[in-house]
Amino acid sequence: MPMLTVEQALEQILATVDPAVPRETPLAEALGCRLAGDVISPVDSPPFDKSMMDGYAVRVADVTETDVALRVVDEVTAGRTADVPVGPGQAVRIMTGAPIPDGADAVVPIERTRRGEDDNEIRLEVTPPVQNRWNIIPRGESMRQGETVIETGQPIRAQETALLAEMGQAVVTVRRPPRIAVLATGDELVPIDQTPAPGQIRNSNALMLAAQVREAGAVPVLLDIARDDPQDLDEKIAAGLQCDVLCLSGGVSAGKLDLVPAALERAGVREVFHKVAMKPGKPIWFGATGEPGATGEGRSYIFGLPGNPVSSMVCFELFVRAAIRRFLGIEPAGPGILTAELTEPFEYDSDRPTWFPAHVEIREGRLRVHVVDWKGSSDLRSTVRANASVRLPSGHSTGAAGTTVDILPWGRINGM
Ligand code: AMP
Ligand code: MG
Repeated sequence: MPMLTVEQALEQILATVDPAVPRETPLAEALGCRLAGDVISPVDSPPFDKSMMDGYAVRVADVTETDVALRVVDEVTAGRTADVPVGPGQAVRIMTGAPIPDGADAVVPIERTRRGEDDNEIRLEVTPPVQNRWNIIPRGESMRQGETVIETGQPIRAQETALLAEMGQAVVTVRRPPRIAVLATGDELVPIDQTPAPGQIRNSNALMLAAQVREAGAVPVLLDIARDDPQDLDEKIAAGLQCDVLCLSGGVSAGKLDLVPAALERAGVREVFHKVAMKPGKPIWFGATGEPGATGEGRSYIFGLPGNPVSSMVCFELFVRAAIRRFLGIEPAGPGILTAELTEPFEYDSDRPTWFPAHVEIREGRLRVHVVDWKGSSDLRSTVRANASVRLPSGHSTGAAGTTVDILPWGRINGM
């Protein structure tokens, strides 16, 4: 079987992963979830004509000259309603957010008034005509009952939380972010707080992947390093399969101790593909438990990411993120490829389509990309100068400064 292209691999991932089953969730716990349906407002907002100012609710028709005197017949604060309507020659003292009394059609700010003959007289210092509805926020101005105000797939952030709260949606129907187990494999790995003995290295992938999981809005579950030993792998894979997604790193290429595919098979994981025509990341393995279409819950999706750090990282951005978006019900779920202009000439030869580390920034409203110095899939250092990959076809690539290239942002650009 010829090796899959990145596009084919993505198609297979999206065809395999089912969106999470929508759940009714208390609004207070829904931050980071995605709405599983359109939200239609059951209310008008604001719910009543409302004062924008502290001042006096008056009748526009009464303001016929500068320095008009009006009788103050009532006072209304936020949370109350006036007891009497505003009649001719009358005013009601009103506070910001309070409902406009019947009969009134403008609010004169307190700063534009002064005391009259006694406590119950007020004089207006305004030049007629006063605009009808001055300082009144009309009922339903920002949203009307029956309007669709938030759409399916939208993330629940602070602002969605507030709007849903305003509408009284104390329970919302959402898709939760997946829990993603991270399992680094390899006899050479030591925990990061230990000094590696000769031949050993620190396990940098686990925390990197956990950080990527978090940046992608999902929930990481860190597992201990698995040794290149069938029994240890079996145990840790079994623990990882408790999560919605299991990301392994290492052990998926063709070496003597690349035991991960066989261990996954023993665990009952069905292989969907192994190896993709790309650089870095060619040995990537993907599979799933359960039957496709068997509506989500209880299934797991398994990525065997190559151990080389840059390979793991790029495969996560391309493939795991797509699976997360699909799980959350985000459309389209595939990677958001953008275009950017090269800041300097670039030339590269590769036998496979390549995702080259690069730094993208927004300058004068346009995306500009600078390709970083990169020594290959183990060159983790190059990635700290980068925030994206440039997509290059296989063969000889060359581009002058200003050439437009495809880029895959890793998370955010310019911190946005
Ligand atoms: P593997 O895919 O297991 O053949 O590993 C490929 C390369 O990545 C080897 O040089 C490993 O030592 C390295 N590697 C594997 N796992 C990790 C890890 N968790 N952190 C850092 N490097 C790793
Ligand atoms: Mg290994």
